[in-house]
Amino acid sequence: MTQVRVRFAPSPTGFLHVGGVRTALFDFLFARKHKGEFLLRIEDTDQTRYVEGAVDQIKQALERYGLVPDNFDAIIFQSQRLARYQEIAGKLMSEGHAYECFCSPERLDKLRKLQTENKQPPKYDRHCLNLSDEEKEKLRAKSKPVIRMKIPAGETVLEDLIYGKISTRNEFLDDQVLLKSDGYPTYHSANVVDDHDTGITHVIRGEEWVPSTPKHLLLYQMLGWTAPQFAHLPLITKPDHKKLSKRDQASDALLYLDFFEVEAIINYIALLGWNPKTEQEIFSFDELVDQFDLAKVNRANAIFDIKKFNWLNKQWIQRKKLTDTTFYGRLKKIVQMKWGIEDEKILQSIAPLVLSRVEDFWALDQLIENEFSFFFAVPEYEKELLRWKKMSDDEIIKSLTSSLEITRNLKPDTSTDEIQKIFFDHIGKNDKGSVLWPLRAALSGLRASPSPFEILNVFLRLPNGAGTITVRISAAIDKLS
Ligand code: GLU
Repeated sequence: MTQVRVRFAPSPTGFLHVGGVRTALFDFLFARKHKGEFLLRIEDTDQTRYVEGAVDQIKQALERYGLVPDNFDAIIFQSQRLARYQEIAGKLMSEGHAYECFCSPERLDKLRKLQTENKQPPKYDRHCLNLSDEEKEKLRAKSKPVIRMKIPAGETVLEDLIYGKISTRNEFLDDQVLLKSDGYPTYHSANVVDDHDTGITHVIRGEEWVPSTPKHLLLYQMLGWTAPQFAHLPLITKPDHKKLSKRDQASDALLYLDFFEVEAIINYIALLGWNPKTEQEIFSFDELVDQFDLAKVNRANAIFDIKKFNWLNKQWIQRKKLTDTTFYGRLKKIVQMKWGIEDEKILQSIAPLVLSRVEDFWALDQLIENEFSFFFAVPEYEKELLRWKKMSDDEIIKSLTSSLEITRNLKPDTSTDEIQKIFFDHIGKNDKGSVLWPLRAALSGLRASPSPFEILNVFLRLPNGAGTITVRISAAIDKLS
């Protein structure tokens, strides 16, 4: 059996996004599973859409995601293989499978408009197909032609590994331009030539390429080459079936790494289309290599569910050493930037609390700002915040004074549960809110925050934390006095 060889073939017309990472991941897993090779090819023949820095971003992203191709020091760049594409276009022409076309962009534009008006599919009308040698000679003196493939009559059948059999009547296919007038190939011809020349056995790519594949299959036929097998991956959409957009932060795969654990991203992306058909949701990289199977990729749109992604990220953080996580690094950066605090002890006390409350890792900044800044800066609030139901000022003062007494006896190693028990014993059958609400408000200055037990537990472990507790509760009493 021939060795499996796959390639990831991004165009440097933008940064690598989630969809790109998914293609690379599926390529990588498929190659590893079959002990094959995984190559990277940069499809950079469209010079007008080239984005500066895109190749570096793609390489860096692959590296950081652990999807390093086997030819990383000798990546194939299509822009360096122009002579080969020209040679193949010439061969197709000499064998009657392709022809020169001199039509001006204006003419093609008019044609397209007319066809659209008549509700016909836009298609070249073969105006230049039967030009005589003389005519061609004359035209060549004026302008450089493009080379188009001559789609034969008949039907083309794609046996897709995911979508199954897709038949296309060739009359619906356009005489695709293979070589542009500047001598650069189009995606279609360069793609086929390279897949053949590098011995690619399986083409794994997004389903947006399904309509182009019959043209590719015809090119393989015309050239007498064996076509690789094709596996088209389902579209990634939002829960409302709309395409992921820039606003969904999907436009830069590197950005994800600043907010999420790499294991969680890989785990989540693997599930975008692939259905393990078991209850298992958390997969390590090795488990993915072991269990991944193209036959279990769905045809239905793969829904990018940000809630599930965040959930999975939390699961992965809990499996790691907290201080080694991207989450912790980010927390550290935010706290340092906002309050100039670098004390690891403070960070480590707060991190589990933040983690238990985070729902959206993109919005960690806001969460910390809104619900945790009181740990680092004295909160400002109105006296009314301290009031539970219809308590009078005096009742609140009494409640806070007894809470203050209790906190004085807490030790740095008193656990959250123990603190809770101490307070519950003190409250007995009375209304819990009458003690806990004013206390929590005095400590945090917030309407919504972690529980007073969690807050006390953190403060107690911090340098001068016991002092802070006393100061905050006393300040609240002062507000009411
Ligand atoms: N350059 C194409 C892309 O970026 C590659 C498609 C393919 O894998 O054939 O989507």
